[in-house]
Amino acid sequence: MTRTIIAQTTGGPDVLQLGEAAELVAGPGELLVETAAVGVNFVETYQRSGLYTVPFPFTPGEEASGRVLAVGEGVAGFAVGDLVTTSEARATYAERFLVDAARAVSVPAGIDAETAAAIPLQGLTAHYLATSAAQPQPGETVLVHAGAGGVGLLLTQLLTARGVRVITTASTPEKHALSREAGAAEVLPYAGFAEAVRDLTDGAGVSVVYDGVGRDTFDDSLRALRVRGTLVLFGAASGPVPPFDLQRLNAGGSLSVTRPSLGHFLQSSEERAWRYGELFAAIAAGQLQLRIGARFPLEEAAAAHRALEGRATTGKVILLP
Ligand code: NDP
Repeated sequence: MTRTIIAQTTGGPDVLQLGEAAELVAGPGELLVETAAVGVNFVETYQRSGLYTVPFPFTPGEEASGRVLAVGEGVAGFAVGDLVTTSEARATYAERFLVDAARAVSVPAGIDAETAAAIPLQGLTAHYLATSAAQPQPGETVLVHAGAGGVGLLLTQLLTARGVRVITTASTPEKHALSREAGAAEVLPYAGFAEAVRDLTDGAGVSVVYDGVGRDTFDDSLRALRVRGTLVLFGAASGPVPPFDLQRLNAGGSLSVTRPSLGHFLQSSEERAWRYGELFAAIAAGQLQLRIGARFPLEEAAAAHRALEGRATTGKVILLP
């Protein structure tokens, strides 16, 4: 049997209970992986709470690293014992998981298993936000909310490496310091951030706002944009944004809003390889630091969710089986 987290129903963190599942077998095209570290992500809190619909009983988890235990029929390029990582598996809150081999990558030498589990989901997200969902140019100023969070720290580093000036928001002095270390030129409290951004940009506003906070920040994020600016709404940590009147985009200065998802920016093996390649290269060059802010044993998955939802975390949260 395999130790695994199972939720029988939607609810608070305590629905995440340790249980046992039947042994997994690698089917054609799949890898069976012995989990080394599990990446915890906000999406799993949305699934657990019922904001996103998933079938129950439910084992959360899309991201994890580990050693290959078995290689399914027809798989090329992987061998038993390889260290792999992915953000596109299912049910990774477990001692073992299955992944489509086309959606797993080999971890380059020099990257340990915990770091490997911390890279894919937030790293690929930061990469597509910086390069594809919007394309801020060197010298432009952008705003990144939750600058000390998992995505926030990585996005700030990727943008500043491209010559973009980054302003962030964060809630505590510790988070302000971490965001500055990641390269933020200015770190703001949430209260009054739209006015503060205008003051810092000679009244103009920023060209892009990256907003993963959602309901609590959305209105002021629009107000922080310059004429023809873009709001990239990529999450809902504070709750989903209610329906809104498109005319406000006109009144705000011909603004754009986009609501992207990582899956739409991993549309081919080439696109996946490009994004992973740039992340691994940036790590190898010392340009991208991964911060693991909290580690929990697998059986304490509920505590990991409480910490994430309670704004008590910085950087990446991982589970260790
Ligand atoms: P974070 O580590 O950034 O954690 C969320 C942070 O949001 C908190 O630490 C907190 O930082 C801030 N926050 C502000 N208000 C609240 C609130 N009411 N409740 C909880 N947190 C709040 O998480 P991730 O890096 O994993 O994810 C960030 C966002 O990105 C999430 O919304 C997630 O869903 C989204 N996401 C979207 C993807 C996509 O492709 N669309 C892919 C991956 C993630 P502070 O205390 O400083 O305010």
